Amino acid sequence: MQEQVRIVYMCEECLYCSSEPGNHHGRPMTRCDAGCPGDECTKPLETAEGRLLTRAPRWWIFRERKRI
Ligand SMILES: [Zn+2]
Repeated sequence: MQEQVRIVYMCEECLYCSSEPGNHHGRPMTRCDAGCPGDECTKPLETAEGRLLTRAPRWWIFRERKRI
């Protein structure tokens, strides 16, 4: 079975996500590797009790951390 890596394009202003490249809020959307569908990194972060820490998927958070 072939694993397909999802590429998404995201607006850094409003975090709008699209599978197509384009402009949003007047600037080009950032190309992101969102991992494979169903991958751990596509799920939002949760506490051990299952409480949602953030709505953003993990790959986005890690991408943000890399920049800091
Ligand atoms: Zn936007």
